[in-house]
Amino acid sequence: MCKINIAIDGPSGVGKSTIADFLAKKYGMVHLDTGAMYRCVSYYIYVNNVNYDDPIELEQALNQITIRFDGKKVFLNGEDVSDAIRTNDISMMAAKVSSYSAVRKKLVALQQDICAEKGYIVDGRDICSVVLPEAEVKIFMSASSDARAMRRYKEYIDKGIECDYEQLLNDINERDYQDSHRAISPLKKAEDAIEVDTSNMSIEQVVERLSEIIENR
Ligand code: C5P
Repeated sequence: MCKINIAIDGPSGVGKSTIADFLAKKYGMVHLDTGAMYRCVSYYIYVNNVNYDDPIELEQALNQITIRFDGKKVFLNGEDVSDAIRTNDISMMAAKVSSYSAVRKKLVALQQDICAEKGYIVDGRDICSVVLPEAEVKIFMSASSDARAMRRYKEYIDKGIECDYEQLLNDINERDYQDSHRAISPLKKAEDAIEVDTSNMSIEQVVERLSEIIENR
């Protein structure tokens, strides 16, 4: 196990999770998917009809939530929600719910706790700047919204899921806007993070480039 932390930030659909999985396997590290944690909170709010605009109701809901990872699986209060948190509705809601400071405070503290021991590859939006500013490796993955929407489109078509390219592109643009315009921890490249534009790169090429950065740190 590699005793460093690697922080990877970037917008929706840029492939952070896929790449983090490859790198975690390659370097014997653990991948922490922080987006899944925001999705769990959103799922809880959705299922329990929580009025998250009411600070007291939101705080009470946050106190009821425990999130646990087991390999690729995510458990919310003991229930396996790995697939349930991946719907488009939850994606759109997570982009909104993640702008609330009470939500960020709880999840950032949890993420810092988990990573204290080192050996984690952590992907999200605020990892290089807020969660792990002292991480040994800091990377910002970018790609044009067209490239990201096209990747998602191909992924759905390959799985036999019907979808509309323009709708996917609109959703990506909307999430980008929300993530980069929120008041707390907006998505942006940390000054000392290395940017890798993956628009015209294959998965293998991205893994190779990031491996180079990790090994040359
Ligand atoms: O990465 P993923 O698409 O699963 O993240 C879902 C949502 O959670 C994002 O759109 C973003 O708003 C939020 N998020 C965040 N900070 C992180 C990870 C995710 O605000 N570190």
